[in-house]
Amino acid sequence: MKTLPTTERCERMHLRTRSGARVFRLPLEAFPGFWACAYLVVTDDLRLLIDTGSGVESANEGLLTGFRWVGEVLGQPFGPENLTHILITHGHIDHFGGLGFLKTRTDAKVGVHELARRTLTNYEERLAVASSRLERFLAQAGVRAERRQELLAMYTLPKMFFHSVPVDFTYEAAGMRLGPLEMLYTPGHCPGHVVMRLDEVLFAGDHILAEISPHQSPESITLSTGLGHYLASLRLVEGWLEGVRLALGGHKRPVEDIPARIAAIRETHRKRLNDLLGFLETPHTVAEASRFMFGKVGGYNVLLAISEAGAHVEYLYERGFLGIDNLQEVEADPEAPVRYRRLVKTGVSL
Ligand SMILES: [Zn+2]
Ligand SMILES: [Zn+2]
Repeated sequence: MKTLPTTERCERMHLRTRSGARVFRLPLEAFPGFWACAYLVVTDDLRLLIDTGSGVESANEGLLTGFRWVGEVLGQPFGPENLTHILITHGHIDHFGGLGFLKTRTDAKVGVHELARRTLTNYEERLAVASSRLERFLAQAGVRAERRQELLAMYTLPKMFFHSVPVDFTYEAAGMRLGPLEMLYTPGHCPGHVVMRLDEVLFAGDHILAEISPHQSPESITLSTGLGHYLASLRLVEGWLEGVRLALGGHKRPVEDIPARIAAIRETHRKRLNDLLGFLETPHTVAEASRFMFGKVGGYNVLLAISEAGAHVEYLYERGFLGIDNLQEVEADPEAPVRYRRLVKTGVSL
């Protein structure tokens, strides 16, 4: 079946929206070979940076190089000190990790959604809480103890280079807007995820991406994630596209036909869910479901694949499509691998 995302470099881009705001796309190498995009919005009185990259040296350098390019286009020097605001689309390290670097170079006000604030301000605590839930998820998924420790070590690696930072305001407190920019809460890929709208441009974060379906993980690890929330947020965005013509995501290239892209992402999940139902005619664990869905993968992709599979199994289980085949074992040991089995003949329509 489908392989997991590999991310090509995202290219620089500069456009003017219909009200005259300038939008610059800044490519950042967030991790070796893994590219993310930050965006700079320049209006008469605002200089907004949307997302910051990961905070690793290549991403920080990418920001400074991008700002120099912005300065050339604007015809006057531009640097972090010129920013008025830094807006974070969601609490993933490849989007907010550069905050520590920027904070020492600017007084720009940092804004996030209320449900992403704790990730930024209490980062070490959030990693500790999430990794204990992840450990239990991996045990129940059928991942053996030694492998679990390797995956947990990968998961907590960012704590080596990111430390909590203060946040100045939340989008709710600001009425979900800042100047001409409006925000819409879109939980699923991440709890505090927002998309932002400015004239014909949608800053999509990781909610809608070209070519790849944004990563999903089970809500049993982090509240307000999960495939159910994500699909509901896709519907919400569909009804929020009036006048919007272009989606600029946190990775990959821009999306011009947003409704078609949303339909394609929804279809990807519908197919995955129904294929999974077929696979679970005979009982299997989430780890086995992951191998069925994504084949054998390595490195960080193991974590991505197993959490994506977990999100799909959770979606089906929560809605009564699946039951637990080895309930007695699970009752006796809450960390025993759980084997799921299909309960109903009907398929999933989204
Ligand atoms: Zn993300
Ligand atoms: Zn991302």
